[in-house]
Amino acid sequence: MPQPQTQRSPLSAMLEARSVAVVGASRRAGSVGETMVSELQVGGFAGPIYPVNPGYSEVLGLRCYDSLAELPEPVDLVILGVKNALLESQLELAGANGARAAVIYASCVEEDPHERPLAQRLTAIADAHGMALCGGSCMGFLNLESNLRALAYPEREDLQPGSITWLSHSGSVLTALLHNQRSLRFNLAVSAGMELTTTVADYLRYSLELESTRLVAMFLETVRDPEGFREGLCLANERDVPVVVLKIGREDRSRELVVAHSGALAGADGAYEALFREYGVIRVANLDEMADTLELFSAGRRAPAGGLSAVHDSGGERAHLIDVAVEVGTPLAEISDATKERMAAVLEPGLPAVNPVDAWGTGHESELVFMECMRALLADEQTAALALVMDLADEMHDDSSGTAEMAVQICGETDKPFAVLSNLGCSIPEKSAVALRKAGIPLLEATATGLAAFRNLFAHATFAALPEKERQPVKAVDSGVRERWRTRLASGETWTESDGLALLRDYGIPTARSEFAESSAGAMEIAERLGWPVVVKTATAIAHKSDQGGVFVGVEDAAALETAYKDLSSRLGPRVLVQEMAPEGVELALGTVLDPQFGPLVMVAGGGVWVEILEDRAFALPPLDRLRAERLLAELSISRLFTGVRGAEPADVASMVDAVVRLSMLALDMGDCLAALDVNPLIASSEGCMAVDALVVPRKQAASDRPEA
Ligand code: ADP
Ligand code: MG
Repeated sequence: MPQPQTQRSPLSAMLEARSVAVVGASRRAGSVGETMVSELQVGGFAGPIYPVNPGYSEVLGLRCYDSLAELPEPVDLVILGVKNALLESQLELAGANGARAAVIYASCVEEDPHERPLAQRLTAIADAHGMALCGGSCMGFLNLESNLRALAYPEREDLQPGSITWLSHSGSVLTALLHNQRSLRFNLAVSAGMELTTTVADYLRYSLELESTRLVAMFLETVRDPEGFREGLCLANERDVPVVVLKIGREDRSRELVVAHSGALAGADGAYEALFREYGVIRVANLDEMADTLELFSAGRRAPAGGLSAVHDSGGERAHLIDVAVEVGTPLAEISDATKERMAAVLEPGLPAVNPVDAWGTGHESELVFMECMRALLADEQTAALALVMDLADEMHDDSSGTAEMAVQICGETDKPFAVLSNLGCSIPEKSAVALRKAGIPLLEATATGLAAFRNLFAHATFAALPEKERQPVKAVDSGVRERWRTRLASGETWTESDGLALLRDYGIPTARSEFAESSAGAMEIAERLGWPVVVKTATAIAHKSDQGGVFVGVEDAAALETAYKDLSSRLGPRVLVQEMAPEGVELALGTVLDPQFGPLVMVAGGGVWVEILEDRAFALPPLDRLRAERLLAELSISRLFTGVRGAEPADVASMVDAVVRLSMLALDMGDCLAALDVNPLIASSEGCMAVDALVVPRKQAASDRPEA
């Protein structure tokens, strides 16, 4: 039931406007001014349209007004098709009219810079009048359910409403996907531009209130409202709406973070990686993968556990698919012997009964063979989804529509996700594509992107099956201890390795025993106590000690210790740390980084001193429970060493998981006081793990953060 206008939010009034004014309307054929009006008409907008331009009395058959001040009623939406210089005055008039929302296409950048930038002035006007703004610097929006096109460019006329919400910072990308020649249909498409008042998070939350939204696709440059965005992603998961994102662009991160390895590795993308992991966002690498993924998800089928099975009409393409599946990370189903036997019974001699299977041979009774292979694979419980991989070129001939018919038949016989996968998008005949899509069968348009779409479908299912995250996976640290460390971080005092290790120890992370010495004799005494061999390091606060020859490992005896001490004290000062040697093992780096938008992140990485070169890392949002910590560690390439290779004992994974969980608690507790923390390395052996170095970078408090003196 439509709500009375006054009760609707400005955003609803924008996206479901019932009356629209178009400032800058024009009679000039093909002009932006004419297009803004014609798009409303083409889209079938049913409410009143008020063109505004003092130069005309009529535009496209509609009465044209001299000014917004003359409109006969307050409107829901004002489309501002005017240049930067007129935006401010026209937005004021819109506010005075009582308009609830406006679209701003222009760049909002003035030729002569003003003390207060135009963008800020426009936002202030909108806020004062309680108006929502789409843009500036955007290409508008389409609400295909409300027949509303707030556009300044001609969009194709035949757009049918569908179930995908499409949000994009880029207007060009917005229209590119709207122009897809496949079955992707949208309920709402918004080019958010610079988000003067209304952010992608707002559109996202709005779309999730719509009955019709089954899938959300986003092209993101940044997230300007992290809280709202996280809320939106939560809502999407509650509603079981998959969110597919192409995230682009690099942002500058604060310099202080880069001192730490974890900060440098987080760079521009660590926070998004962590965020997307937290909410199971499906991240695509490019627009082709976006389109194939949307088409596969649009079919609405969710994958059970298992891998992909595939039936081919070519041995070469079968082998190609295996190579590409490894590359993009799509698991292939490990089918049972029974399934193999069932396929072997129909396959021509010489065709191995395996997954993926080449079922062609000489083409004798090919349909029968294909159908039986597909049925056998679908019946296998390891098959999570099935692809019929064909190039469809035979469909060129009118007398052959075999692939489409087989696909329709098979798709109707199963609940498992099914798609036709073409190896080469540019050779798909239109006739076959139309036939398949009409029957509701996804047609994926290239090997790599099609396989990535299946991988994404499987990842989504895995995420959906995750138990809810434990918020308190280990006993919390007592509040006195927590406050003491927070105060220490805020104090501005320098941090040494030893301080860092003490912080880790308080959080229950195992650390190497160590003590300070200021003389060779003192060092000797400590070494005797700890047991040989020992490690001797400079205790001068240096971020990366080995870069300056500040670490001696495997110091076996008194003579070696004497030499090490002499060298360290002469170059880097008399104070050293004598430390127990960790048992030999895999070197990991753990870390935390405070992201300016999303708060603390947790990093796990491989490599010890080589961490930055290897770039083998993964980021997540704290807290992490054991299950999530384990999965995070499993993402590292170095995790292949955990089982013990080249005669090494397997590493104690449980102790690493525990350290990651505890570090995530530390990250949450120290939160805003800690810019970054490197635990590098954490050495993991069969006997457990041990942190042997810790670099703490307290957050420099901005003057405004400090309590008043
Ligand atoms: P840096 O400040 O250069 O990171 P570290 O204290 O991490 O200094 O020492 C450098 C390297 O020396 C470590 O990556 C590790 O390989 C080795 N190392 C340091 N301390 C120990 C230790 N207690 N046991 C075993 N190896 C150690
Ligand atoms: Mg180190």
